Amino acid sequence: MAENFTLKLTSCTELNDNTVHFEFNLLDNQSLELTAGQFIRLLFEQDGQEVFRSYSVANVLKSNTDTITTIELAVSWVKGGLATVGLSTMKVGDVIKASAPYGRFCLTDDKFKRYFLVATGTGVTPYRAMTNELKSRIKNYDAEVYVVMGARDESGLLYADEFRKNAKEMENYHYISCLSRAKLNNATQLDYEGHVQTYLETVTFDSENDVVYLCGNPAMVDEAFGLLKEAGMPVSQIRREKYVSPPVRKKKSAFVIINP
Ligand SMILES: Cc1cc2nc3c(=O)[nH]c(=O)nc-3n(C[C@H](O)[C@H](O)[C@H](O)COP(=O)(O)OP(=O)(O)OC[C@H]3O[C@@H](n4cnc5c(N)ncnc54)[C@H](O)[C@@H]3O)c2cc1C
Repeated sequence: MAENFTLKLTSCTELNDNTVHFEFNLLDNQSLELTAGQFIRLLFEQDGQEVFRSYSVANVLKSNTDTITTIELAVSWVKGGLATVGLSTMKVGDVIKASAPYGRFCLTDDKFKRYFLVATGTGVTPYRAMTNELKSRIKNYDAEVYVVMGARDESGLLYADEFRKNAKEMENYHYISCLSRAKLNNATQLDYEGHVQTYLETVTFDSENDVVYLCGNPAMVDEAFGLLKEAGMPVSQIRREKYVSPPVRKKKSAFVIINP
């Protein structure tokens, strides 16, 4: 069940022009038990009402489930957005209310042979959280992991150094970049031009042994989902998390009877 927390901002680091990596401490000696891939809700005030925005926990967890006392988030700015205004004006030492954990965009106990972890933008953070669990599945079950990251240009390949390091360390861990508006310097055969769908179209999926996770931009998630279904992947093996804001709540107005 979700619990309420107060978070104190301890650092913020620019990942690119539009994205910031935040680190918070949980106050009041609280800790949070969560599974890699889950998200928290940050609470903001709008017109006197509490509203929330969701953010995936980016911490590299020790294992699939972990208990943490600090929270890392990667946040992309949306011009004029409520959370964007709130978070971009926070200073180190400021506090914010939150609740957690939420979500089921997590690795299940099923032992698949190949994991395709597809993301755009900050949608890659759940896969950062899953790093150690994925490494253990590679080691213990001979699994193969493909992190497929879509961005406009190289600056959008968030945490690329970490993912590339994982790929260097483990033969069965692959990092594939897909740039839609630029070319990568020193590109390899794992660096694609185009959207993540361009890469997915090149894969022959195995409906028995593969699982695909899709996270980030809702249009990407929908298009990739359609493509995977056509490729014969069972819906139960396509996990999705769309990064959207909750619908705006309409203000309650008095019920008025209009006589004709
Ligand atoms: C489960 C989940 C996890 C999420 N995790 C993350 C995360 O880790 N990092 C992260 O940055 N975001 C994440 N999001 C999205 C996040 O919750 C907010 O939607 C986002 O930060 C925008 O909030 P805002 O209040 O600044 O803008 P809002 O006030 O919600 O939006 C302002 C306007 O911009 C539009 N808009 C909203 N989002 C976008 C967008 N991406 N592109 C263009 N227009 C947009 C809205 O429709 C609205 O018109 C997640 C969402 C979900 C559901």
